[in-house]
Amino acid sequence: MSDRRADAPAELEAEIGQVGRALHDAFPSHRGHPLKALDDRAMDLAAQDDELRAALFRFVDVVPACRSLDDLASHLTGFLDEVGERPPSLRAAMRMGDTKAGRAALGAAGAAGVRHMAHRFIVGEDPQAALPVLCRLWRDGIAASVDLLGEATVTAAEADRYAARCADALTTLAAAHERFGDNPLLERDAIGPLPRANLSVKVSALTPLLRPQAPERGGQDAAPRLRALLRQAHELDAHLHIDMESLDSREAVLELVLDLLAEPEFAAGPSSGVVLQAYLRDSQATLDTILQRAEQTPRAQPLVVRLVKGAYWDHEVVEARQHGWSVPVFERKADCDANFEALTARLLEARPLVRVAIASHNLRSVAHAIARNRMLGAGSGDVEFQVLRGLGDDLGHALAASGLRVRSYCPVGDLVAGMAYLVRRLLENTANDSFLADQAHGVPLEQLLAAPETAA
Ligand SMILES: Cc1cc2nc3c(=O)[nH]c(=O)nc-3n(C[C@H](O)[C@H](O)[C@H](O)COP(=O)(O)OP(=O)(O)OC[C@H]3O[C@@H](n4cnc5c(N)ncnc54)[C@H](O)[C@@H]3O)c2cc1C
Repeated sequence: MSDRRADAPAELEAEIGQVGRALHDAFPSHRGHPLKALDDRAMDLAAQDDELRAALFRFVDVVPACRSLDDLASHLTGFLDEVGERPPSLRAAMRMGDTKAGRAALGAAGAAGVRHMAHRFIVGEDPQAALPVLCRLWRDGIAASVDLLGEATVTAAEADRYAARCADALTTLAAAHERFGDNPLLERDAIGPLPRANLSVKVSALTPLLRPQAPERGGQDAAPRLRALLRQAHELDAHLHIDMESLDSREAVLELVLDLLAEPEFAAGPSSGVVLQAYLRDSQATLDTILQRAEQTPRAQPLVVRLVKGAYWDHEVVEARQHGWSVPVFERKADCDANFEALTARLLEARPLVRVAIASHNLRSVAHAIARNRMLGAGSGDVEFQVLRGLGDDLGHALAASGLRVRSYCPVGDLVAGMAYLVRRLLENTANDSFLADQAHGVPLEQLLAAPETAA
């Protein structure tokens, strides 16, 4: 099989290289932040050693269920016991687990470590507690989208509770954002004003019925709760973004959001958005649908399309193989990256029918979007860049320092609710096919910025 460069003219490649190098130079230095350096070192160790990685993931999973430090330490030494070749630091930790006093110290260190790690990704236990972080981000030129972490919704009462938490969050965020100082870049683009307060919600938390066998029932059940949130967001001038989950609910989620936003009462607002997952082979067709629907139902606030690669890659591959279905996601990372770039180009050209948010920590994917936006003659504030709190902080700050519009996706919730989220982020960060892992392993910048090589 021969390889060919993704379809990108030399001029665009030169611009991407220049933008990527400048962004890289704008990354903050961590010499003054020993804890951040320690986190990165822990991630790095985990990335290099599959057994250690698996043991740590299982440990992080049981922390919320542990009743005492002793309990925690025995789990930690138990999991680490499974690691064949142990680095010296691990051998020392395990010796501590042999005595009661040592176990207490080890347990406390383990719990503190996990809590510290979780706080890197989670900004507070609730929206009120998250405000100091959100305020600091805003002062640094970074807007936020708050995501309320929760456990799986299996009853109508849980769905009602999640909807009530979302309603409270909208009220808290809207009131707090009124007190934030002016920042024209975060508050307006060529289309018009942008809401300050921004909440991301999951349809699977708004209904217990979003099941793979009959997802449309889930859509119908979630509709009244989502409609109430859209009404409230409109009243408060807040943005409501609907996250995308696994493929089995994609049609139901997309139909639900596009149908609700087409209702006459929402023609004037609120600002709202959906997510497009570039790892799906049929994502170009999904974009056709989104653009057609946006054309048919003009709204005062154009739909925001957040372009991502997709967080459920392993799930989609395993699920399809188990059932003997064809795999719905690209199986070569470069094909996914090239598709992300093709979708970026289409989205940027589709403005002002939609607003565009590029959500990626991959310097190449981001530099490509910036370069294309420039070459289309659009202003730097006419496309938004989104990063995940804890994973994309450096990139976020580099983008903000370069005069670009950035939003940090900030999960809020308690440590227990945060565990599933934390494990997913750790897995993502240490996976073999990950830009952040490549970057952490010292892959040269020119290689990181090279065009994705797609199979012919
Ligand atoms: C602000 C924000 C919001 C997000 N919201 C959502 C959301 O609503 N729904 C959602 O699903 N995801 C969401 N994500 C996560 C996103 O989908 C990605 O998982 C994550 O950002 C990693 O992609 P990357 O471009 O940053 O990194 P990269 O390292 O360039 O890409 C990693 C991604 O590539 C894909 N991939 C990995 N291996 C392969 C392979 N062998 N073949 C093909 N593709 C592969 C996977 O999607 C993997 O996550 C969000 C991300 C951000 C930053």
